[in-house]
Amino acid sequence: MKDRGKVREMNSYKRKKSRRHDNEQSRSDLKATILPILAVCVLSIVIAMPIIWFITYKQSNHNQGINNEQRSAGIEAISDVSAAIEKADQLAAMYDYEGATEWIDQSLEVNPENEDLLNKKAKYIEMKEELVEYTGEVSHVFFHSLIVDTQRCFDGYPDMSIVTGYNNWMTTLDEFNKMMKLMYENGYVIVKTTDFCEEVQTADGKTTYIQKAILLPEGKKPFVISQDDVNYYDYMKYDGFASRFVFDENGNVKNLYVDQNGNELIGDYDLVSALDTFIDEHPDFSYKGAKGYIGETGYEGALGYDTHIKDSPTYDEDCEMVRKIAKALREDGWEFASHSYGHGRMQKQSFEELKIDADKWEDEVGSLVGPVDVYIYPFGDYVPADSWKFKYLQSKGFKYFFGVGARTYNAFHKDYVFMDRCNLDGYSMNYRPELLSKYFNTSLVLDSNRPAFEN
Ligand SMILES: [Zn+2]
Repeated sequence: MKDRGKVREMNSYKRKKSRRHDNEQSRSDLKATILPILAVCVLSIVIAMPIIWFITYKQSNHNQGINNEQRSAGIEAISDVSAAIEKADQLAAMYDYEGATEWIDQSLEVNPENEDLLNKKAKYIEMKEELVEYTGEVSHVFFHSLIVDTQRCFDGYPDMSIVTGYNNWMTTLDEFNKMMKLMYENGYVIVKTTDFCEEVQTADGKTTYIQKAILLPEGKKPFVISQDDVNYYDYMKYDGFASRFVFDENGNVKNLYVDQNGNELIGDYDLVSALDTFIDEHPDFSYKGAKGYIGETGYEGALGYDTHIKDSPTYDEDCEMVRKIAKALREDGWEFASHSYGHGRMQKQSFEELKIDADKWEDEVGSLVGPVDVYIYPFGDYVPADSWKFKYLQSKGFKYFFGVGARTYNAFHKDYVFMDRCNLDGYSMNYRPELLSKYFNTSLVLDSNRPAFEN
C-alpha cells in the first residue's frame, strides 16, 4: 500500500513538473506560435461565420417546414389565379366570406385587374351582404359509437342483456348517414360553442356569457354535434363497432373496423370519419370548418388506445398515437371534451372522489388530447353550480357543461354555459319521434335491422 502511495506521489510530481515545463516552454514560444494561430483562428471565424449562419438558417427553416411549405403554397396559390379562387371558394363554401375575400385581395396584389378575381370578390361581397343574423335556438344533438354491423350488435352474443341498451342508446352508421343528409337538406349547419357563445364585460365591470349572433344565409339553422364515450370500450369488441382511430395511407384520420371474418378494414366506420367525408362533399354543412365535440373518458384509455395502463409494453406508443390523432383532429376542426375519467354518477360521488376523477382525466387524457373547456356529464348527471364539485370542475378550466335532454336548450350564466343535448338514438327515434321532427322524419331513418322496441 505504502509503495503504491509513493508511486502515485511520484507520478503526480512528474505531471506537475512536466506541466510547469510545458508552461515555461509555451511562454517562451509565445510570440513564435500564438500569433500565427490567432491569425488562423480569426481567419477561420471570418470564413466560418457565413457557413454557420447558413446552417442555422437552414435548420430553423427545416423546423418550420410545414409553415414554410404552407407559406410557399400560399404564395403560389396567390399568384396562380385559379388556385387562389379554389382556396377562396373553399372558405366561402363554409360561409367565411371575409377569409375568401382576403385570398382574392392578396392575389389581386400580384394579378391586378384580373377579371376573374374581381368578379369573385364582387360575388363574395354580395353573398356576405345577404347573410342574416341568427339569434334563435341553437340545437345540440349527440351520439354514442355508431353500430356498423347490426347483425353482430343485436345477436345477443356474448351478452343478451346488452341488446336492449344497444337498441336504445346507440345509432347505426346507416341511420347516422341518413340523419346528416336529412339535416343538411333541412338547412342545418354545424357550429362550435364559441361561434355563438361569448364572454362579455357587463356595465358593472363583471363578465358574463351571452349568445352572440351568427351570420348565416336566410333559413340556415346552426346546431352543435357531440359524441360521448369515443373510447371503444372492451365490452363492444365483438358487437360490430369500430375499434379505434387510425391514420389511413393518405394520413387522414379514419376508423379501424374488424369485420365478422376478422378482416381489418380502415374507413368511415364511426361518427368522426363519416362526418368528415360528408363535410368534404358538403362543405356548407360546416360553419367556418366547425366539426363536433369528442367526449373521452379515461378508464379504458382514449380513442381506442391503452393509455390507462402505464406498465403496458405499448404504453409510450399508444400515448404517442393518441397525441398525433388528437392533433390531426383538432387541426381539422374537431374539439375534445372530458366525459369524466371513470363515468361515475357525479351526484353520488363525494367531493374527494370527483376531484380524484377530474385530476386523473387531466393527467391521463387531457395531457394527450390537449386543453379542453367542455365537460360532458356522464349519464347527463349534472352537479349544482353552487357546489364545491362544480367549482372544482371550473377550476380545471371547464366553461361549457353538456347535459342530456330531448328539448335542447342553452343556459348562459356569468361564468359558464350549460347546454342540454338531444340523443339521436334508437330510444329517441322510437319513443319520441315528434321531438326529432324538427331535425328529420324518423321513419326515413330508423334501421329496419333493429330488434323490436319494448312497449
Ligand atoms: Zn357516457
